[in-house]
Amino acid sequence: MRAVALPDGATEYLCLQCEGLWLPGRLVHASIGATPLERIRVAGTPRDLRCPNDGTALQALHHHGVEIDVCPHCAGVWLDAGERDKILRQRASRGSGQRATEAVADVGSGFDLVDAVGEAGTFLLEFIGDALSGL
Ligand SMILES: [Zn+2]
Repeated sequence: MRAVALPDGATEYLCLQCEGLWLPGRLVHASIGATPLERIRVAGTPRDLRCPNDGTALQALHHHGVEIDVCPHCAGVWLDAGERDKILRQRASRGSGQRATEAVADVGSGFDLVDAVGEAGTFLLEFIGDALSGL
C-alpha cells in the first residue's frame, strides 16, 4: 500500500499491486456524515481482509451488484479495482454527463489518483454513502 495525502490533509491508500483503493474512515465520515457502524456489523458478511487502520475484520456489503468491504470499527472502505470500476461505470450509465464519461475513460487507461480525490472520487463516496444509508 502506498499512502497518498489528500488536499484536505486526509490520507488514502492505494495498493500498487492490485490497484485497490482504501478510503479511510475519516474521509468517509467527512463525505457522508454519520456512519451506521452497528448496522454494518449486522448487515455485512465477515471477510478475511483486515482493516489496515485497526486490524478489524472487514464486512462485505452488496449494493447495486457491487461488493464493498467496510470496517465496522472506523468506517474505512476497501474497494478492489474491479468493484471500483463497476461503480464508476454505473455512474456513467446513469447519464451523469460528460465528466462521468471522462471518469470511465480514465478507468480504461489505468486508475488516476487525481481522479480518486476529484470527480471519480466523489462518485465513489456517493455510492458508498448510498450503500451505508440503505442498511
Ligand atoms: Zn478500521
